[in-house]
Amino acid sequence: MASLKHLPAVKGAKVLMVGAGGIGCELLKTLALSGFQDIHIIDMDTIEVSNLNRQFLFRQSHVGQSKAKVAREAVLKFRPHISITPYHANVKDSDFNVDFFKQFNVVLNGLDNLDARRHVNRLCLAADVPLIESGTTGFLGQVTVHVKERTECYECQPKPAPKTYPVCTITSTPSKFVHCIVWAKELLFAKLFGDKNQANDLNVRSSDGASSSKQAEDVFEHRKDEDIEQYGRRIYDHVFGYNIEVALSNEETWKNRNRPKPIYSSEFMPNDLSQQNGSMEKNGAANDISSVSAMASLGMKNPQDVWSLKENSRVFLEALKLFFLKREKEIGNLTFDKDDQLAVEFVTAAANIRAASFGIPLHSLFEAKGIAGNIVHAVATTNAIIAGLIVIEAIKVLQNDTKNYRMTYCLEHPTRKMLLMPVEPFEPNRSCYVCSETPLSLEINTHRAKLRDFVEKIVKSTLGMSLPLIMHGSALLYEVGDDLDEEMVANYAANLDKVILFLCFKMTC
Ligand SMILES: [Zn+2]
Repeated sequence: MASLKHLPAVKGAKVLMVGAGGIGCELLKTLALSGFQDIHIIDMDTIEVSNLNRQFLFRQSHVGQSKAKVAREAVLKFRPHISITPYHANVKDSDFNVDFFKQFNVVLNGLDNLDARRHVNRLCLAADVPLIESGTTGFLGQVTVHVKERTECYECQPKPAPKTYPVCTITSTPSKFVHCIVWAKELLFAKLFGDKNQANDLNVRSSDGASSSKQAEDVFEHRKDEDIEQYGRRIYDHVFGYNIEVALSNEETWKNRNRPKPIYSSEFMPNDLSQQNGSMEKNGAANDISSVSAMASLGMKNPQDVWSLKENSRVFLEALKLFFLKREKEIGNLTFDKDDQLAVEFVTAAANIRAASFGIPLHSLFEAKGIAGNIVHAVATTNAIIAGLIVIEAIKVLQNDTKNYRMTYCLEHPTRKMLLMPVEPFEPNRSCYVCSETPLSLEINTHRAKLRDFVEKIVKSTLGMSLPLIMHGSALLYEVGDDLDEEMVANYAANLDKVILFLCFKMTC
């Protein structure tokens, strides 16, 4: 590696790294050791304890500090004479505009989300700077090269959407544990503790249409004079008992399926909760939210144990109770977080009780947490391999060695005795709306759709355009920016609520 220092392309290059996490730490280290001397690095995150097992530039004492800044200090210790410029900021900030990107010879991504990747891709295209993109998932990883008009851009091929499941499988006919987890996390948890307006009424209701959404809403409401234990049992009996009975009444559904078994709390939970209650009050004195745990208050310790149905039922009721007793202020605003112990306990227990009802094997909290958080454990070695490949491609790009550009996939199992699979980059997709000039055509009901639907659902969400400017003929209908005056802002806001046909008609008259 030391010889690379003498490559003028490397020594004189100004590179931008986006992301100082798992890949970023390895990348910064490898760039510095490879002779790069002018490195800029953007990362908005601060260091967390859970990063320390693989982000080797960070130590316990750095927890809470900026990743970009600490990474710089760590690398300067062994390469004191190079220049590293850290930005503790979001790459989507307006400071990092096209002009900012233009100063670099190459941009290297070590990001963890689609949104930022798309954003950097577009800035690189606008600034005409080559981009090297990367990602890892466990043992899998890839590095791709994107050079305007020479290779495909990051968005030339549509990216697979995160895995989703058919609604009816989740709400009525689960057949795998993951279906129960999705139900517990996305539907039941959201319904009980999340934003009531956002939670989908379909979800926790049974599959028949007997109960109106209004009634369904009432069922989950904690009534004012209701004892919290009564409430927990009522919810339990409704979702695991009553709803299953109602679902069973639809014979069609179960013709070719195993019939689920309704489960009521009285089956497993004789009225001995008061004892548990006492111990919980003693344990539960701590105000620290992270210490609130149903497992702790029930004296259950090992997250790798698979609980019995009775244990799951106790955890379910205890967790629900703890949310209302210890975290009442958050109710209505909670979203599931895999690092929220009580939420994981609740979701594990609820998923297991549902699994028991449908004859699906039960799982431990540890396993359930992995599924609920879509956790694929990060592998430090994969990050190191990918970082090395990024540097190799960066050097080719800087030397304009276009014939040798490669996209490289890091595999989990060897194929033809190879773990690294290099392939030539694809040509740009001529119908890509990001890197080509091809217009997109879209059918929209202009009588019904409001400008807001078009802007929010299509332009911003689907097409990922954060600063759209929308014109009809020569008239400006909508734009976003820091430099708009109040009148313009009010004008655009009013336009958003108008039906598109009306706006276009008004403009052409
Ligand atoms: Zn493209």
